[in-house]
Amino acid sequence: MRLILLGPPGAGKGTQAQRLVQNHGIVQLSTGDMLRAAVAAQTPTGLIAKDIMASGGLVPDEVVVSIIADRIEQGDARNGFILDGFPRTVPQAEALDALLKKKKLKLDAVIELRVNESALLARVEKRVAEMLERGESVRADDTPEVLSKRLSNYRAQTEPLVHHYSDKRKLITIDGMMPIEGVTAEIERVLAAVTKADETTQAAKHKVATKRAAGPSKRAASPSKARKAAKGAKKAAKGTAKKAKSKRVVKKAAKKATKKVAKKAVKKGTKKVSKSSSVTRGASRKKAVKAAGNRTGRAVKAAAGRGRKAAKKVAKRPSKAAKRLTKRR
Ligand code: AMP
Repeated sequence: MRLILLGPPGAGKGTQAQRLVQNHGIVQLSTGDMLRAAVAAQTPTGLIAKDIMASGGLVPDEVVVSIIADRIEQGDARNGFILDGFPRTVPQAEALDALLKKKKLKLDAVIELRVNESALLARVEKRVAEMLERGESVRADDTPEVLSKRLSNYRAQTEPLVHHYSDKRKLITIDGMMPIEGVTAEIERVLAAVTKADETTQAAKHKVATKRAAGPSKRAASPSKARKAAKGAKKAAKGTAKKAKSKRVVKKAAKKATKKVAKKAVKKGTKKVSKSSSVTRGASRKKAVKAAGNRTGRAVKAAAGRGRKAAKKVAKRPSKAAKRLTKRR
């Protein structure tokens, strides 16, 4: 999980960040802590930052951006991190966006702790008193004068990040005036919702990817392909209708031809019977007619065959051909 904690000095970012570390096993990356360490170690960065920090000003963007770029590269940040005190300006936020994009890392949420400014001074005074009680050294910038400068810096430079992240739909605003436990519970509740929504999105993406991998869907066909397919279907339907018409015409022509041939054959057969009464020698006229009938049947069948064949031959222009055929016979 990668988070940003946003809020003015004294809003409780450090306290909530430590709780998130415990609950989620991720690291807290506080630019304030890193800069204080650099100041203590008197590194080149520390030397640049020392006076700026003491006066309540902001350390140059390029200095803090380079610190963060190095820090998120380290192994312990691989599981995720909470950025506390960074970004503090729009250019820092843009540099972070680019950095995460380059590393293909996703920012899960930006949690803004909204607090009543008049309560902040009382909070910081309480914190200083507690630190002194524990015998800890107090921060040079934890005085009422420096705090008011840090607050005005926050309003001018850091508050615009609320819009930056709400435009990116990453912003979650929580009432930082609740007791510490209440704020923690609310952060956990919204993070659970963010995780669930993310899982749903991932599952949907996976489903789409699996479908795509399975092959092209018919619905996904391009409009030109769809038009072509429709044209093909129309053509095929026309062909089928033509064929059906041809078949009907062939049948009709064959029937007509058969009838004509059959009539002719029956006429011929009857003539033969009367002629062959002497040939059949002694056979009755009935038998002769039956024999002639059998011959006629064969003749009818043959004629039908001829009729069908001939009609099929001219099936390309069935109506004219059938007419011609009928005329001929
Ligand atoms: P913090 O502990 O976050 O309140 O930071 C203490 C001081 O460190 C600030 O008042 C700034 O002077 C400096 N600082 C920390 N983070 C940044 C940052 N992201 N950009 C500029 N200056 C910073």
